[in-house]
Amino acid sequence: MPDATEHLPRLRIGHGYDLHRLEPAPPAGKGRPFILAGVPFDHPVGPVGHSDGDAVYHAVVDALLGAIGLPDIGQAFPDTDPAWDGQDSAHFVEKAREAMANHGYALVNLDVTVICERPKLSPVKDAMIANIARLLGVARTQVNLKGKTHEKVDAVGEGRAVEVHVVALLARAT
Ligand code: MG
Repeated sequence: MPDATEHLPRLRIGHGYDLHRLEPAPPAGKGRPFILAGVPFDHPVGPVGHSDGDAVYHAVVDALLGAIGLPDIGQAFPDTDPAWDGQDSAHFVEKAREAMANHGYALVNLDVTVICERPKLSPVKDAMIANIARLLGVARTQVNLKGKTHEKVDAVGEGRAVEVHVVALLARAT
C-alpha cells in the first residue's frame, strides 16, 4: 500500500518569534504574572498579553505551525476571542503538537533563545526545557534553551520587553 505521506518533504524547518511588553501589575500597568515556558518568576514586571503572555510557548507554537505551513498563533487563537483571556499557553502548545502530528510530522529538535535583561534564567533553565519537552512528548535532549541579555540597549535591554526566537526541525513521521 502506498505511503499516504511519502509525497511530503522528509524534513521541514520552522521559525517562531515572539515579543511581549513588560509592565507592572494593575493598577500601575497591565502586566500579568511573569511566566516563561510554564515557569513562574517573582518579578516586578510581567507580560502584557491576552493569554497568560508566555512568550516562549508562543514562539514554540509559531515555529511548529510555521514548519507545517500553517498561519501563526494570532490567527489560530485570536486575541479578540474572550475564550483565550488569561489562557494557560500550554494549551496552544498542545494544539500545535496535534497539528504537527495530523500533518504527518514529528519533532526532531527545537532550539529556543530567550532574550531578556532580568530575571536570570539559568536557575530554571532545566525546568523550562522539561516543560517544553513534556508538552511536546519528546526527550529533553531534543529541546535546547539559551538565555541571553540585550546588553542594556533598546526596549529589551531596558527590561521593558522579553523576546524569544525558536527554530524547529520536523521530520516526516512515516
Ligand atoms: Mg505572544
